[in-house]
Amino acid sequence: MQQIKYIAILGSTGSIGTQALEVIKSHPQLFKVKVLTAQSNVELLIEQALSFQPDEVVIGDETLYQKLKEALHQTPISVKSGMEALCEVVALPEVDLVLTALVGFAGLKPTLAAIKAGKDIALANKETLVVAGELVTELAKQNQVKILPVDSEHSAIFQCLVGEIAPIEKIYLTASGGPFRGKDISFLSEVTHQQALKHPNWIMGAKITIDSATLMNKGLEVIEAKWLFDLSVDQIDVIIHPQSIIHSIVQFQDGSMKAQMGLPDMKLPIQYALSYPDRTQNNFKRFNFLDYPQLTFEQADTKTFRNLALAFEALNKGGNMPCIVNAANEVVVAEFLKERIGFLQMSEVIETCMAKLDFIAQPVLSDYFESDNQTRIFAKELVTSI
Ligand code: NAD
Ligand code: MG
Repeated sequence: MQQIKYIAILGSTGSIGTQALEVIKSHPQLFKVKVLTAQSNVELLIEQALSFQPDEVVIGDETLYQKLKEALHQTPISVKSGMEALCEVVALPEVDLVLTALVGFAGLKPTLAAIKAGKDIALANKETLVVAGELVTELAKQNQVKILPVDSEHSAIFQCLVGEIAPIEKIYLTASGGPFRGKDISFLSEVTHQQALKHPNWIMGAKITIDSATLMNKGLEVIEAKWLFDLSVDQIDVIIHPQSIIHSIVQFQDGSMKAQMGLPDMKLPIQYALSYPDRTQNNFKRFNFLDYPQLTFEQADTKTFRNLALAFEALNKGGNMPCIVNAANEVVVAEFLKERIGFLQMSEVIETCMAKLDFIAQPVLSDYFESDNQTRIFAKELVTSI
């Protein structure tokens, strides 16, 4: 009989958060929710809290605290707000595993707090590893904390490595290519955020959907993979695979390759991270080969989709450069969603930030916060001046 795992979900109202709750709901004998948090979707957070009865809920936006508190006043659920509360609840003694399903740089502080408290991490929030991968993975090692990938490509690599002790020669991260695969610069100069939000294979939060259209998502995933699997840059390759059936591939030093495959459904990597090292039965739709008579592969077009090349450049440069890229990217994606900037201008702003902001070769934690802040200010100025 397996023990129940007690789980804290940061970002429970988002795409990953809600799918994680579906997984948890169908396995009450395995998982119990202890903490739920969200930034601003207070209505859904209230609904989730009433249904899952966690010990604690946190709302990021402090102006929504009263509303949350009043809605839950007849329950024993403790209600908090703000970033400090987020860092406190991940460290609660009863929590076994923290699912970081919040988006962006905001994940860094609570992830560090959870690792310091010795909690295993189911990591969806890739931005944390992009910004401070070295520091985060080092801290996890010191505290004997597992970082279990939720991102489908990284879950694929992780699953391929089960039982292997031989070194990796290289990995191939697969990418769908997004909604604009095969399009040229003149087409991209005219695209709207509504078009960019229509991903061919996955339904996800707005930020990662735009990142998938620009290929920045794959760039962030290359950096995430470097830190999760302790690889050098030249051990990581990206291959476009439009059907999103092969989720990624490991090549070992004898040339043998292992791939993990299945229908594109984030509930599978979420469930694997929650139940690891076990696998758990479910009723997710199964793959049928005859529905996919052709699985195809292409080279990524980094001349047109500059963001992927910029992410590789940042990783090669190291230091705070990935942090600069991440902050600039968060700004331009938000501005693109508000129609204040065009699709191609997103890469231009990121590239200017990389060239102009202070480079720090060996950053400490406070440098990341400083770099993130400086980059956001500068990137916003650049957007205004366009
Ligand atoms: P989303 O926008 O759907 O949800 C984000 C969640 O984080 C929400 O609950 C929101 O309330 C919370 N949040 C937002 N800003 C916050 C802040 N400043 N402080 C605290 N909480 C905040 O995003 P998503 O698509 O679920 O993605 C979450 C993370 O998982 C991202 O890092 C993304 O790259 C990664 N990821 C997502 C998918 C996917 O299929 N959606 C796949 C792989 C990886
Ligand atoms: Mg992914």
